[in-house]
Amino acid sequence: MASAKATNPPRGECTQCWFHAYASRQAHARLGPREDCPQCVDHMQNGHPHHMIVR
Ligand SMILES: [Zn+2]
Ligand SMILES: [Zn+2]
Repeated sequence: MASAKATNPPRGECTQCWFHAYASRQAHARLGPREDCPQCVDHMQNGHPHHMIVR
C-alpha cells in the first residue's frame, strides 16, 4: 500500500512525480534495477502536464 503522503501531494506538486518519489518501490515495481522509469523520464524531459499538477 502506498502511504497517505504518497497519494496526497501538496499544491503545486506533480501528482505522478510525487507518487513516484514517495512510493518509489511500488511505482517502479515492474522496472529492473537499472531500468529508467518511462513516466519519470517523460516528465523530466517534457515537463509535467498541467492536469497532473495539484492546484
Ligand atoms: Zn511530473
Ligand atoms: Zn517513475
